[in-house]
Amino acid sequence: MYICYECSGEFETPDNLVEKHLLDAPPYEVIYVCPFCNSSNFKVKSHSHCCCCGAKLSNTDSEFCSNECRNKGIKLWKNEFKRRKQLLINPINIIIRELENYNKEHNTNYSYGQYVAIIENQRRKQKCAKRKKDI
Ligand SMILES: [Zn+2]
Ligand SMILES: [Zn+2]
Repeated sequence: MYICYECSGEFETPDNLVEKHLLDAPPYEVIYVCPFCNSSNFKVKSHSHCCCCGAKLSNTDSEFCSNECRNKGIKLWKNEFKRRKQLLINPINIIIRELENYNKEHNTNYSYGQYVAIIENQRRKQKCAKRKKDI
């Protein structure tokens, strides 16, 4: 059983979303999310040991042996979540940097969407050219 921190929903199996990161081919990143609100901020509900200090739990509905551990654990997990989110955001930042360079180089003023479309077009053209050569 899993429990969602975002909407407090409980579920047996998380949904999965495929994050392609603008890649043409696998491996894509698979993100497991709450089926109710699509948040990845959820945890396994039943635990035999404290998630923070590892002490045996008498109440398996709780992840932590004490409020102190709970606060510590949630804080750690939130940091981990932030770090993961940052990783997801990073590819976009890279493209934005590329876009700024492209605009400077070509004296253009493309938006993020326009730039992504242009790059995608160029990639397709290159593929076609390659295929023609092969024939
Ligand atoms: Zn949820
Ligand atoms: Zn503990």
